[in-house]
Parts: sequence; C-alpha cells; structure tokens
Amino acid sequence: MIVSRAWRGKRFAVLGLARSGAATVRALVAGGASVLGWDDNQAAREKLWEQLKADREAEGTEPGFTSKDWVSFPTDLTRFDAVILSPGVPLNTHPIAAKARDAGVPIIGDIELFAQARGELPSHKVVGITGTNGKSTTTALIHHILETAGIPARLGGNIGLPILGQEPLPEGGVYVLELSSYQIDLTQSLDCEVAVLLNITPDHLDRYDGFDAYAASKARLFAMQSTGHAAIIGIGDEASQGVAKQVARSGRAEDVTKIAPGICMDQSRWPALQGPHNAQNALAAIAACEALGVDQASIDRGLESFPGLPHRMERVATRNGVLFVNDSKATNAESTAPALAAYPRVHWILGGKAKTADLDACRSGFPHIVRAYTIGEATEMFAEILKGEMPVERSGTLAEAVRAAAANAVAGETVLLSPACASFDQFRDYEDRGDQFRAAVEALA
Ligand code: ADP
Repeated sequence: MIVSRAWRGKRFAVLGLARSGAATVRALVAGGASVLGWDDNQAAREKLWEQLKADREAEGTEPGFTSKDWVSFPTDLTRFDAVILSPGVPLNTHPIAAKARDAGVPIIGDIELFAQARGELPSHKVVGITGTNGKSTTTALIHHILETAGIPARLGGNIGLPILGQEPLPEGGVYVLELSSYQIDLTQSLDCEVAVLLNITPDHLDRYDGFDAYAASKARLFAMQSTGHAAIIGIGDEASQGVAKQVARSGRAEDVTKIAPGICMDQSRWPALQGPHNAQNALAAIAACEALGVDQASIDRGLESFPGLPHRMERVATRNGVLFVNDSKATNAESTAPALAAYPRVHWILGGKAKTADLDACRSGFPHIVRAYTIGEATEMFAEILKGEMPVERSGTLAEAVRAAAANAVAGETVLLSPACASFDQFRDYEDRGDQFRAAVEALA
C-alpha cells in the first residue's frame, strides 16, 4: 500500500467504494486520516468494511473509517480537507462537485493522493500517458520495455490495479500511469518526469464545455511538470499541435519531443504493434524510454517481445497459414480503420450496436478486404453500405461469421474481428465479444 504521513489527522470524504475508491480509503486510513466513505452499493460497502477490519488486525491501526452504512453524501462538506471522487463521476453535472466548490473544499482523485505521497517513496520516476486513443497500449508498452530492461516498474491509473493499493517500488523504480482526462481533472500536483500526449480528437464531449475544454484538460498534464522534465507530444492533430506550442512557449521548448505522423518505420519485427496508429504508440514509448535513460538494446527487445493487450489487434491463432485477430475493442469506425490498414488481405467481421450510420472512416481500408461478414443489429445496415464495394455475407452471429470466414480464408490472409460497433446487442461487453471470438476460433475443426 502507498501511504503518506501528510494525511495524518486530516479528514477526507470518499465517494464511490469500488476498486480504486476502496483502495483509497484503505490507504488513507492506514496513513492516519479519518475517512467518511459512501456508496449506494451495499456489497461494496460491506466488502470494504471487512477489508478495513482485516487491515486493522494486521497493522493495529485505529479505526479511522466511519459510516459504512452511509448511502447519501453529507450536506455539509466544509469539515473535510478534501473530497475524493472516482474519475467516473462527471464533475460538470454531479451535485457533489458543485457542493464541494461552494464549500471551498478541493476535489481530488487517487492520482493526486499518490502525488502527495511521492516525497516519502524511495527515489523513483513517474511517466504519465494521456490521449484520446492509444493510452493503454502505450502505457503497457512502456511498462513492458522497462521490465525488459530490468527496471522495477508498476502500472497504474486507468489500467491495472489501483495505484494506492500497490506496494511501493524500490529505489530507481518507475511508475507508469495511464491518465484519462477525467483523472487529470482530479489531479493538481503530479509532476511527471516524463509526460506523454498521444492525440486529441473529439470524445467525451458530454463531460466538457466543448472540445477546447477537453483539450485544455489534457494540456494540464504538462502544466504540472517542472522545467527540464520531458514532454512527448504526438502532433498528428491540431489540438495536440496546439498543446506542443503552448508547452514550448511556456519556456520549456527544450523539453518537448514531437512525434510526427506518417513516419515510415520497419514494424515487421513487432508483431503486436502493427498499423500506423501503433507506429505512433511505439515512437512515443521509445521517446519516453529514452528520456528515462533505457538503453537502445532493451528498447528493441521490448518492442519485439511486447505481447500486446487483449482485444486490441490481438493475434489469437494461426491456422493453416490464416491469422486470426481479435480487435473487439474497436467500437467505432475510427478505431477500426487502423486495423484494416494493418493487414493486406482481410476477412472482416463487423457489426453489433452501431454508433453511426456510416463506415466512412474505414473507407481507405476497403481495398484490403477480401470479404466482409456482418453481425448483430447492424447486419443489414452494414451489408447495404458495403455491397458494391466488396463481397458481403450477412452472418448475423459471431459464431457463424467465424465459421464462414475460416472456410473462405486461404494461407496469407487474415480473419479480423474489428466490429466498428458497441457489443451490447449480443454480448456483455467488448471483452466478452473478444473472448467469444477466441473461443470460436479455438473450436474450429
Ligand atoms: P485507449 O486506452 O486510449 O482507449 P487503447 O490502447 O486501448 O487506447 O486502444 C484502443 C483502440 O484505439 C485500438 O483498438 C486502436 O484501434 C485505436 N488506437 C490505438 N492507438 C491509437 C492511436 N495512437 N491513434 C489512433 N487510434 C489508436
């Protein structure tokens, strides 16, 4: 657990007691704070209560947690030193945010608490990664390269386990944090030795007062950095270019490394990093690792051995020379496009619950497609859009699409699930869809 003496005697209110909220409460209590937590999910409250009891028995700390039965948040927040929210709580609309602002109480998240605890940790560095797309891949890749180089490293933030629940790293370690804009909004003092911005494209606009406000949220990652710390910025879109200029203008021009789009690289030795979008992710990771002083040979070995993340252009099998790829995480046409570009001859399984009524973002990949197989609610709509462009089968279900694609594909071709749709019409979530794709491939005779 990561704990700070600075929390001793302070009072915190924590909203949401699921994974990161629960880890936060336990760390605060272990640090000697008094904590009031609430969650309307009784199971979450009871689980945390049991964990705190066990912590107390193990460590002999005083009970610092109250109100396990609390189901609605307190009206008077002035008696708290901070209100701690999960990044899932919309700051622009949730009443607690307005209440805390009225009471003059800071609203923070677990990453800010981690920042407060850093001074007491063995000497270490922090890499923070943000962007609209590619955060998880780049975060996992940097972590993997560091481990390949024999440097102790931890994953945290929007990926892996809650950071405060993890054991501190020994001297010389690196914390690699994936940071959504929501997490950055709840963080005031995280001075990353290396900060990475991959891209900014319109997303999550329901939570911001327009696109500029969303971009400004990401730019704060750099505003929190000290001069001399590395800023790595993808400049493939206008908003990110704006951030790069802003950081340079702030007197930190020498700190900025720009990752330009369209750089030709030989990605053939990096099986899990195919496609132009992964070139950007890889370049950003290379720059980050160089800034951390990792040697070139370890960086190369890390890129080559990176296993990739599940459900993102994940190679699940090769049968009779046909490669099967699970890209179930691609839930809109923009995120499917790079997968189509990555393979020359594709049997494309797509469909589900469509977010838009077109596939325009995928059009540049159409010449790579041998045949398409449409599934789910979008079976008919996508078949109509694609007919005339390529042969299309209305498969309806994922199992039927896998069967048909496997029967049609010949050696050297790729069967790709990259649905450009949400999964909720036929699956629990995109992970369930990807798992069922893998199972269907494994079950092929
Ligand atoms: P995030 O964590 O930001 O959601 P992921 O690494 O999980 O990003 O990738 C999600 C999807 O976004 C991938 O399936 C891929 O299609 C697309 N993607 C990944 N990296 C990039 C990038 N650098 N630029 C554009 N799209 C990307």
